[in-house]
Amino acid sequence: MISLRQLFLLNNAQTSSTPRLLQVDRAKGIYLYDPEGKAYMDFVSGFAVSNVGHCHPAVVQAVKEQADRYMHVAVYGEYVQAPQVLFAEKLVSVLPAGLDSVYFVNSGAEATEGAIKLAKRFTGRSKIISCHHAYHGSTHGALSVMGNEYYKQAYRPLLPDVHFIHYNQTTDLELIDSETACVILESIQGEAGVRVASNDYMQALRKRCDETGTLLIFDEIQTGFGRTGKLFAFEHFGMQPDILLLAKGIGGGMPVGAFIASQEVMNCLKDNPILGHITTFGGHPVSCAAGLATLQTIIDENLMADVDKKEALLRNLLVHPSIREIRGKGLMLCIQLDTFQQVEEVSRKCVENGVIVDWFLHCDTAIRIAPPLIVSEEEIRKACKIITDVLTSVQERA
Ligand code: PLP
Repeated sequence: MISLRQLFLLNNAQTSSTPRLLQVDRAKGIYLYDPEGKAYMDFVSGFAVSNVGHCHPAVVQAVKEQADRYMHVAVYGEYVQAPQVLFAEKLVSVLPAGLDSVYFVNSGAEATEGAIKLAKRFTGRSKIISCHHAYHGSTHGALSVMGNEYYKQAYRPLLPDVHFIHYNQTTDLELIDSETACVILESIQGEAGVRVASNDYMQALRKRCDETGTLLIFDEIQTGFGRTGKLFAFEHFGMQPDILLLAKGIGGGMPVGAFIASQEVMNCLKDNPILGHITTFGGHPVSCAAGLATLQTIIDENLMADVDKKEALLRNLLVHPSIREIRGKGLMLCIQLDTFQQVEEVSRKCVENGVIVDWFLHCDTAIRIAPPLIVSEEEIRKACKIITDVLTSVQERA
């Protein structure tokens, strides 16, 4: 009989010739289980999604209750749907003033698309500035602001008037001028291999945008919802964006994204043209119910309280001659190795030994360490022992 793995390779579109092929039977907390019952610690959180852990009971209950009540009823923005309204209200309540209008979409890339359109429409300008090594999604607009030519060259022409600056380099901020609609930037760069900007840079960036009337878009699709120890990573810098992008972790495992701005900025999507941005499924009631439960869980269970302690423990335990550097903030970390071959072999062996780690789109010499926020100290110790043992075995074979 043909296996699920064979069918997957046959009928499901493939994105590489070397998929992991880990077959998931179920997931709970920080663990995935294969059909044989083997447990894997998910130290990438389904790629920065499962901040509250897989299948958190509060999220599952919210999903079930909403699915029983109603699922899709109308395109986004027409009917009053309690899960959307209550999730937006909750988001606004935890955000600073000026970020009080939430446009729900289905994914991170869609949040990027909506935000770029909004910035162009509000400012009447077309120039867009992004960063080298940035990742904001894979659709055409989002691809246009990706800072890596390797992934873009086959899909040109892309959006015109997009320019790139070096992340965390203050001198480059001069490129932002009175023709610039927006600067789009990750509060902490993820796929670049977890790069944290300096406070001085962030202040200078905010100042330059204010001086030139440029909208500052922060992509918190990977950093949001507690991953770095604060609800949003921009809080580390004591400043805020004009437009905030969220997705991934905000749905607690369900697909939902958002771009958030002030009422003044967002209102320009209403006319000239009317329906400036539309989506059928954006803000799906089941996803929004899950999102509300996720945010409530992060707050009620105080999931951000121990993130700094867990980061320190990871930094203490991930000590090995092969590790050149540990970068990042909170539970958004990476260990820097020397070569891609090392990274490939180490991550494959870690998975075989029950710890899921992976590399980055724009940095294939570093390994992603991003467990769910609910990971315990004991689990961190166990995972770090496996990772360092694997590093030793790979080093010995080299
Ligand atoms: N922005 C950042 C910073 C991301 O890390 C990602 C996904 O990895 C995206 C945008 C795109 O999100 P999605 O895959 O939901 O389109």
